[in-house]
Amino acid sequence: MTLRLDDITVTLGRDETRTTALDGLTASFRQGALTALVGPSGSGKSTVLAVSGALLRPDRGQVLLNDTDLAALSDGRRAHARRTRIGYMFQSGNLLTGLTAEEQLLAAASLSGHRPRALRGRARELLTEVGLGHRLRHRPDQLSGGERQRIALARALLVEPELLLIDEPTAAVDRTRADDLVRLIARTTHEHGCVTVVATHDPVVVEAADATIDMLDHAPAATA
Ligand code: ADP
Ligand code: MG
Repeated sequence: MTLRLDDITVTLGRDETRTTALDGLTASFRQGALTALVGPSGSGKSTVLAVSGALLRPDRGQVLLNDTDLAALSDGRRAHARRTRIGYMFQSGNLLTGLTAEEQLLAAASLSGHRPRALRGRARELLTEVGLGHRLRHRPDQLSGGERQRIALARALLVEPELLLIDEPTAAVDRTRADDLVRLIARTTHEHGCVTVVATHDPVVVEAADATIDMLDHAPAATA
């Protein structure tokens, strides 16, 4: 499995907020490799993740997951790819209100076609690995931002996605926890052989990465 972005252009907003977030970006991401996506705030890192994860359709260009162009699929097939092939750890956490930490993982497993009961043990193991073994029954409103984001990581890892997309994993946690998360992400990538893309400012993540893509090398031409 590889991910290849081919000549991707994305325009966001309208009228006076209209912004070219990506302008003809071409980039490749290897299987079994953690690729760090670096660049200053506003350089389009989160937009790359949204396009790669079929959350945002580009104005132009192809998003090739192996030979499938995610950008060209119907909405229904894009939703199916999101549930079954792609794992997300975004800053918001994107958790479901009202479900406990453990239920967040089991609900995702069920949506991706697994039998949740079979994965209960693995779900607890992963929550423990991200440092939340003592928070299995907590709901999103009872957790900190960093804890919610770590649940999102455990949830993403449970279904062993082909593509793992992570936005600023170390921004909301202390250094020791951040180092543990980076190790877990790198180990999972190498063991499961997924394509992992991590948007980050953190030199520790860059150090642990197998490859780096600098958004400044792909910066859109300045727009009025
Ligand atoms: P990064 O993750 O590197 O900080 P983003 O991908 O979030 O960058 O944003 C890329 C650019 O697009 C930024 O200049 C940002 O201001 C702009 N942008 C993001 N979302 C919108 C939106 N909804 N409308 C208009 N511009 C946006
Ligand atoms: Mg961002």
